[in-house]
Amino acid sequence: MASMTTLNGSRFDRSLFESVLKRRFFFTEAFEIYRLSPNFKGDNRGLYDYGPPGTALQTNIENILELDCSVLTPELVLKTSGHVDKFADWMCKDPTKGEYLRADHLVENVLESRLSRGLSGPCKDSPKLDDAAISEYNDILAKIDNYDGPQLGELITRLDIRNPDGNGEVNPPIPFNLMFKSTIGPSSAAPVYLRPETAQGQFLNFKKLLDYNQGSMPFASASVGKAYRNEISPRSGLLRVREFLMAEIEHFVDPENKQHARFSEVCNVKLPLLDKEKQLAGNTTPQTLTVGEAVESKVVDNETLGYFLGRVMLFLLKTGIDPLKVRFRQHMDNEMAHYACDCWDAELLTSYGWIECVGCADRSAYDLTVHSKYTGTPLVVKQVLSEPVKVEEWEAALEKKLVGPRFKRDAKAIQTSVEGLDQTSLEQLATQLRETGAVTINTPVLSDGSTSVELSSDLLAIYKVTRTSNTREYTPNVIEPSFGIGRILYGLLEQVYWHRPHDAARAVLSLPLSVAPIKVLIVPLSAQPQFIPLVRKLSARLRSLGISNNVDSSSASIGKRYARNDELGTPLGITIDFDTLADGSITLRERDNMTQLRGSEDEVVQAVKNLADSTESWEEISQRLQPFLGQGQED
Ligand code: AMP
Repeated sequence: MASMTTLNGSRFDRSLFESVLKRRFFFTEAFEIYRLSPNFKGDNRGLYDYGPPGTALQTNIENILELDCSVLTPELVLKTSGHVDKFADWMCKDPTKGEYLRADHLVENVLESRLSRGLSGPCKDSPKLDDAAISEYNDILAKIDNYDGPQLGELITRLDIRNPDGNGEVNPPIPFNLMFKSTIGPSSAAPVYLRPETAQGQFLNFKKLLDYNQGSMPFASASVGKAYRNEISPRSGLLRVREFLMAEIEHFVDPENKQHARFSEVCNVKLPLLDKEKQLAGNTTPQTLTVGEAVESKVVDNETLGYFLGRVMLFLLKTGIDPLKVRFRQHMDNEMAHYACDCWDAELLTSYGWIECVGCADRSAYDLTVHSKYTGTPLVVKQVLSEPVKVEEWEAALEKKLVGPRFKRDAKAIQTSVEGLDQTSLEQLATQLRETGAVTINTPVLSDGSTSVELSSDLLAIYKVTRTSNTREYTPNVIEPSFGIGRILYGLLEQVYWHRPHDAARAVLSLPLSVAPIKVLIVPLSAQPQFIPLVRKLSARLRSLGISNNVDSSSASIGKRYARNDELGTPLGITIDFDTLADGSITLRERDNMTQLRGSEDEVVQAVKNLADSTESWEEISQRLQPFLGQGQED
């Protein structure tokens, strides 16, 4: 576990930090009042609700173009996409405790604990770790994400890894599918899953999106919405939850041209990159390259992937993330999701260690190809060529005179499936038909309930033709940045949290103005009625400029009111005091250094607007407005 310091150098205390977030209702455990009931049973960890400041912060962080697809996804779609068979993590059962543990996390936690204690077992009197073991453990940890189930099982047995809770032996790892299953309607014949990613809805709408974009390539769709994963044993608070907000961009690109028109905008952005070769060699130190250098040297495969890595870095920096606490780690081959051919994760350094917060995957043509094959709907781009070309193509022809009478009302579906076969499939089927005299073709559900049909060579012919074509047909590749909004939010909150020197009870969240849920706190010094119209007028004026604000007219001391809002991360405060009644002047306070400036309402409102638009800094404003040391100072 990483030992961390806060912005002012003091030790990061996670429980203190979480108590501030809960006190200010950034988040809370879901169903909390039920969870406290003695009748509430079962494992409902990994479910959290965001309160008003957390929700506002989430919204301020996202801000990308939205396409809204269904969460409930038929089993058939996710069977075709590979999720039903492959979207799984490896887990071990501790038969004594009845507990389930994620196998890679178990190995990681036990080895990290042994390394930090310098001992090879759980007890105080376990033998000391020798140099060879230390080096082996570090090597395993550097590539922990690359082990599959049997390999994790081998490590668990060989290194005698047990459940840290009770020291019991665990059973060998078995795969556990991470999707939540349900049914649609009263019949159990229509199984569905809660979507584990928003991407599939976008792929299924590809044809419509392409039409909407007038057939022009490349283009991107985006979706922001909840995704659901039945995590095995989530123990990392907001970082690993079972229901979370995802923002995914699917960028559809020509596989033969992965250049990006706006590449020059990110070419000079610096990225700390940890590629797979480094990790496999046991090295965890990233090398810093510009996006341009990374693509040029092929560390990053292509311009489009490089473009998105650059944009992700800029987005994280704009959100307020410390550049020294970001790295981009490439997936190793065994670690890659079943649909990806390359993947880079943007990881944030947190008190839980390095955590993936944005995954940037090259999904190649995988998803469009499998959905197209299954449904018989071509999910392709037809590019008009400036000069006609000669193309050799495979073609399939059904002997309609025989197929009609043989398959009756299924004949149409079979014909559509045959017409939907792509060139690669046709080539394979042609060989098979030649060698065995028959082939099996996937179809939609037929009248006898089957989803495939066998066609013999008297019913189907597959042959090569040469023709002149004005068009080129291809299945686009997809580059996908996938943002976990909750993880970015949590990483940011950890990074901006600190407390005033010598007072752990006075916490501050130094959120940048751009993402802070409330930008300005208005504090009337007195509850006397003459203050009310001034407060209302100022609040409305800020609101009309798009600057969110809150009024705190409670009877607490001004220092307490500011302290409460420092914990909410409110960057600016405006005090209305007795001098305001006389001359209209007001005080502007900065959250982090607590300095105050005085000016007319016009001057202060202009200053707030300039700060919000990033056209002026606090230092620049301090040159114009008067320093304030009088009425309404903090305790
Ligand atoms: P993946 O599709 O696994 O690459 O996940 C995409 C993004 O979703 C990750 O980068 C995380 O930010 C986020 N994510 C994945 N699983 C979880 C989870 N259990 N809790 C919160 N965020 C998650």
